[in-house]
This record gives sequence, structure tokens and C-alpha cells, in this order.
Amino acid sequence: MKTNIILICEECNSRNYHIKKNKFNSTRIELRKYCPKCNKTTIHKETK
Ligand SMILES: [Zn+2]
Repeated sequence: MKTNIILICEECNSRNYHIKKNKFNSTRIELRKYCPKCNKTTIHKETK
């Protein structure tokens, strides 16, 4: 059971990454990823 989620930049709220995750792993994902809009690596958080 996998579900698609979107990761958004915490600084500019751009939807930069689409990933799949296991539905049973319910912890919210936070990843450091590159944001083209901010032009730097920022925290990206899971959204629906
Ligand atoms: Zn950003």
C-alpha cells in the first residue's frame, strides 16, 4: 500500500517533489531538498 504525497518547500511553499510512501508509516516526512525557487536546500514537508 503506497500513497503519493507532495513535498513542499517550507520557505516558499513550492510543490517541488512528488514521492511515494508507505501508508502504514504515518509519520510526517521532512526532508532537506533543493528548492529551485529559493535556489538553495530547504526543509520540505509532506502535504496532501
Ligand atoms: Zn522554496
